[in-house]
Amino acid sequence: AKEAGRNTWRFFNQLVHDRSVRLLAIEHRLRGALQRDELVLLYQPFVETSSHRVVGAEALLRWNSPDDGLVGPDAFISVAEHTGLIVEIGDWVMRRACAQLAAWRNAGAPDFRMAVNVSPRQFRGDKLLAQVRECLASHALPAGALQIEVTEGLLIRNQPEVRETLLALGELGVRLAMDDFGTGYSSLSYLKRFPFDTLKIDREFVRDLGQDPDDRALVTATIRMGKGLGLSVVAEGVETAQQLQFLAEQECDLVQGFLFGEPVHPAEFEERWLNRAVG
Ligand code: C2E
Ligand code: CA
Ligand code: CA
Ligand code: CA
Repeated sequence: AKEAGRNTWRFFNQLVHDRSVRLLAIEHRLRGALQRDELVLLYQPFVETSSHRVVGAEALLRWNSPDDGLVGPDAFISVAEHTGLIVEIGDWVMRRACAQLAAWRNAGAPDFRMAVNVSPRQFRGDKLLAQVRECLASHALPAGALQIEVTEGLLIRNQPEVRETLLALGELGVRLAMDDFGTGYSSLSYLKRFPFDTLKIDREFVRDLGQDPDDRALVTATIRMGKGLGLSVVAEGVETAQQLQFLAEQECDLVQGFLFGEPVHPAEFEERWLNRAVG
């Protein structure tokens, strides 16, 4: 038994070692990617449910790796969070997205909005607020054109600096969205305590809207509640006409998903969506 225990221990150590080596390797490659300008943003439209007009886009990060092709954020965001590299990456994302936003607003979509995902780590210290201010100012963008999306994980830590930054962003007029709504533990109390403008219903609840009466009840209640709180409600992951119809009946404000369009490169976004944008 002792022997087995030792083997397990050795095996466990090996796992831990492999994992940290793997993390370091990814971080190293990611840092190189940032330097070689291999990160790209794709854009997915979000659409007014009632009119099908494109109101804006969400910027979604990809790593255009020479070895592996277009790599999605799930493969590297958590590593970047862990090592802190997300701060530099997030900085790049914010600048690039704001530049794109300004370009599209000037190219015939004056009311266009851009949603940017921001990681908890980026809320450490007071850099985020200054950076957002600078991005808006340098492109002469109104704060309301920018939507910052955060998940509940940010708020769970209950740090004063997070609260201050969120309040200051809200004060500035930046739109704040609670992402992945319904997947956490205490989203309701956060809606009450922070100046959110938008609630994004997680894809998990949208997926089975066609079949599952429980999901229908949850989504209906969430839309009612969000609207009751004066929030704009967005459904994520809308893939079928049936889902869309249900969401339209329940007067969900906005939808986003493959039914309208998957995330695409800027040139394709312009071709497909910009002429259908509001304004
Ligand atoms: P998210 O913010 O919830 O973004 C929505 C995800 O759902 C995106 O995955 C999008 O491609 C995908 N999606 C959109 N419509 C549909 C649909 O109809 N069906 C299905 N099955 N999926 C759909 P993606 O691009 O892989 O991003 C995953 C997550 O990575 C995002 O989830 C977000 O949390 C994070 N992320 C993406 N870009 C950034 C970024 O620039 N910074 C940070 N910190 N996180 C990012
Ligand atoms: Ca998001
Ligand atoms: Ca606000
Ligand atoms: Ca989500």
